[in-house]
Amino acid sequence: MSPTSIYLHIPFCKHRCAYCDFNTYAGQESLIPEYVNALIREIEQVSESANQRVDVHTIFFGGGTPSLLTAPQFDSILRALRHAFALTADAEISIEANPGTLNLQKLEDLRKTGINRISLGVQSANTEELRMLERIHDFFTVIQSVSDARKAGFDNLNLDLIYGLPEQTLESWKTTLARVIDLHPEHISAYALTLEHGTPFGKWSSKGLLPIPDSDLAAEMYEHTEEFLDANGYVHYEISNWAKDVESQKSKVEEQTFDLRLSTPSFACKHNLQYWRSLPYLAFGAGAHGYANGYRYSNMLRIKTYIDRLTNSQSTNLPFPLTPAAVNHHKQTQQDDISDYMINNLRLTQVGVAESDFRERFGVGLLDVFGKEVEELIRLGLLEKQTSEVSETSEVYRLTKRGRLLGNQVFVKFV
Ligand code: SF4
Repeated sequence: MSPTSIYLHIPFCKHRCAYCDFNTYAGQESLIPEYVNALIREIEQVSESANQRVDVHTIFFGGGTPSLLTAPQFDSILRALRHAFALTADAEISIEANPGTLNLQKLEDLRKTGINRISLGVQSANTEELRMLERIHDFFTVIQSVSDARKAGFDNLNLDLIYGLPEQTLESWKTTLARVIDLHPEHISAYALTLEHGTPFGKWSSKGLLPIPDSDLAAEMYEHTEEFLDANGYVHYEISNWAKDVESQKSKVEEQTFDLRLSTPSFACKHNLQYWRSLPYLAFGAGAHGYANGYRYSNMLRIKTYIDRLTNSQSTNLPFPLTPAAVNHHKQTQQDDISDYMINNLRLTQVGVAESDFRERFGVGLLDVFGKEVEELIRLGLLEKQTSEVSETSEVYRLTKRGRLLGNQVFVKFV
């Protein structure tokens, strides 16, 4: 059985940003100690329901703002995870952090717990843009946080960016990218701003009060990102993600006979690759979503009800990996799994969908299921077919440059 991944949701923020629709709450930090206990309880319940020891190779603390937890709180959660599951020796353990919530001492303490990757929510290098996003940091804080993280021994940093911001120009986006690569992160994520229903940004936009860049300008920003990061040594391995590669690891990959799943850059986020490859992950915390043992499931959203549910429940007879905190769950059908597989794997711009992998996983040919759709997408110039250099009998389907811009038009074909 391939190892699983673990996602833990930390739904606390100092301030609720106007564009954010994540399950996160400001002003409830007093609940953090109880929440940590509830997470540990959930971890214990899930491991008790497993009928064999579960191997885990990535852990990701996402939010919200995980860096609001103290190092001892992370330590107690990680101890519970190590006790409950079989953590691989080289497990990737990431936390999301906001630049204004870190200092050198805290970073050193976090590193000692075993956390080895930090994803910093930078978003922009432009002060006005950060203010408009209602972020609590400026770019000087980012520079300080990166420098402190390096001193504390972190050699795997992601910087998260957003483009297509209100009143953002191409020049301003270019400046953000240039300033960001000066910090030499191993990994960069760049997502287009989405205006989510129910957020202040969504409301202002529907009233015409938010001058966001049109789709042509957003596309120009994306294309510049691809060219600029490529020219600076970052491999574009997922629609919105770029990573550095290490030459020695590259040659190791080339020695493999035929495992396309390995042909991602060495600093690719292993945890997110688990999602994009449609492989299992356990989820803990309020509003967390998981996929394991054939179930897709999600936990209750509110912090207090999540805590109450786990604090008051005794051991249950629920099947692995469900706990009393799970409010939604369903068993995936093969058709669900096939659709999810296509949508997730096509996001991998280098790897794409390999016919051989599809057949091995589902016992049926890709073209037998989606022959018409694949043919149409190739004709529209959104998908391309490549024959593997290693095995001429295996074909790989990937998004074209245009397909990466119009990903949603591609994915809808496989639903
Ligand atoms: S810090 Fe991040 S998670 Fe928290 S409200 Fe802002 S965008 Fe959302």
